[in-house]
Amino acid sequence: MSSLNADQRTRDLADLADRGVVDVLVVGGGITGAGVALDAASRGLRTALVEKRDLAFGTSRWSSKLVHGGLRYLASGDVGIAYESALERSILMRRTAPHLVRPLPQLVPLVSGVAARQAVLTGIGFLAGDLLRRSARTPSAVLPAPRRVPAAQVRRMVPAIRQDRLRGALLSWDGQLTDDARLVVGVARTAAAHGAQVLTRCAAEQVTGDGAVLRDERTGETTRIRARAVINAAGVWAGEVAPGLRLRPSRGTHLVVDDSAFGGLDAGLTVPVPGTTNRYVFALPAGYGRAYVGLTDEEQTGPVPDVPAATTEEVRFLLRTINSALARPIRDADVLATFSGLRPLLDGGDGDSADLSRSHAVRTDDAGIVSVVGGKLTTYRTMAEDAVDATGLPARPCRTRDLPLLGAASPRQLSTVDAPLPLVARYGTEAPAVVATAGGDERLLEPIEGLGITPAELHYAVRHEGALDVEDLLDRRTRIGLVAADRERARPAAERALHEAPTGR
Ligand SMILES: Cc1cc2nc3c(=O)[nH]c(=O)nc-3n(C[C@H](O)[C@H](O)[C@H](O)COP(=O)(O)OP(=O)(O)OC[C@H]3O[C@@H](n4cnc5c(N)ncnc54)[C@H](O)[C@@H]3O)c2cc1C
Repeated sequence: MSSLNADQRTRDLADLADRGVVDVLVVGGGITGAGVALDAASRGLRTALVEKRDLAFGTSRWSSKLVHGGLRYLASGDVGIAYESALERSILMRRTAPHLVRPLPQLVPLVSGVAARQAVLTGIGFLAGDLLRRSARTPSAVLPAPRRVPAAQVRRMVPAIRQDRLRGALLSWDGQLTDDARLVVGVARTAAAHGAQVLTRCAAEQVTGDGAVLRDERTGETTRIRARAVINAAGVWAGEVAPGLRLRPSRGTHLVVDDSAFGGLDAGLTVPVPGTTNRYVFALPAGYGRAYVGLTDEEQTGPVPDVPAATTEEVRFLLRTINSALARPIRDADVLATFSGLRPLLDGGDGDSADLSRSHAVRTDDAGIVSVVGGKLTTYRTMAEDAVDATGLPARPCRTRDLPLLGAASPRQLSTVDAPLPLVARYGTEAPAVVATAGGDERLLEPIEGLGITPAELHYAVRHEGALDVEDLLDRRTRIGLVAADRERARPAAERALHEAPTGR
């Protein structure tokens, strides 16, 4: 087991200050930075990752949590990116993180608002997506082929679907993460298991191609360290780290609703935006009785906020579109919370923006800083490989394609893990270690009322997953904090976990 916690942080900071030099300094602890740290450390490079706030503090926790098979890229003719996405989905679901990615059925209902032409186009798209699945060697036992399903089956999967003139639905499958922030923590801990030093609340300042000043955000102390290569993975903040880089972020918003609004939700529900042929709004099952409704795409102007916020117009647009497929509309009052993330798009200059949410870019500036921006959660592994290759450091070849994350195992092996199923779904083979954290105290294994998460998980997060305060616990190691009332209910348990876990905070 690899443990991130307050003691490890103190030790690693002191060690880094003593040595004063690493091979690779990674700036940013989102999925990109965590992936780079794993890639570099597993190639035998002495690696330090510094994150100003917490793992997954930025965009990486605000995604739709889908592991895409590349269908949307096919629609825009980007066959190369589409294939890369399908391949990475296959690697995540079959080798590196089958414990964190599950197959998600997705329905496009054929109702009166969906024209026959639109249905045919969607069906052709699904078949093309299936070709990608097969070319990436993802067996149908992992992701079944798409098909048309009758109205009765649609009603079973989404009971609140509008019934009038429901002709059935097109059903396809994609990957869905248990949680995006948990993927980041899993990758970062696996990097630590390969020797990377992972330091949160540690900002990189005065960054150059051969080092940076590190500021301990808890004490204000600074130390300069040298590095043979510096990789900037600071997402929408990448332009602050490497000033030549200009980003033009775009905001994507989701709503959080009770899944009873759909009569329960066993599948993703995809609804075409009226008047368009390639825009959709979807509802996704989010676990613990919740569903997410997304997604918008709005230019974010002005300074980059720490935590972006949804606008009233975005909420209205999402409700209006999803309600077009429901028998009883979801109202404003049913929206429990919203969350928004910023896509790190590179500004192409001359007014047009290069949409790097579709692909990723690795740029080395005059100072020698290697920046890696754009891409997707799904493709973090190839982004990391390209960034480490770009440093030109002599090292072993990339090996992350075959490197399971901590807790990973095949579904068959996972079915034999001796722990409660909800824990196996979140921790894989590490679930028994979460149970052990309870030290035989059964109360710690009882879910916090109505929230599904157990206090043992909060203790585990403090001891092994680098949670340093209540926000880390409620906003990133779990997602309880998304809904304000849930947050208040869980706060005492989070405070107890921080107080009781012996980590020398
Ligand atoms: C709304 C939305 C939905 C999406 N849905 C999906 C999806 O379903 N599937 C998918 O594959 N992709 C999806 N994406 C894309 C994906 O989420 C992003 O591409 C990815 O999370 C970007 O990760 P990152 O690590 O590059 O950036 P971030 O996650 O933002 O990480 C950057 C980190 O750098 C840190 N940092 C900044 N400055 C410094 C500094 N000076 N020193 C140290 N640390 C610093 C920040 O605190 C932050 O934690 C979505 C994106 C959005 C916006």
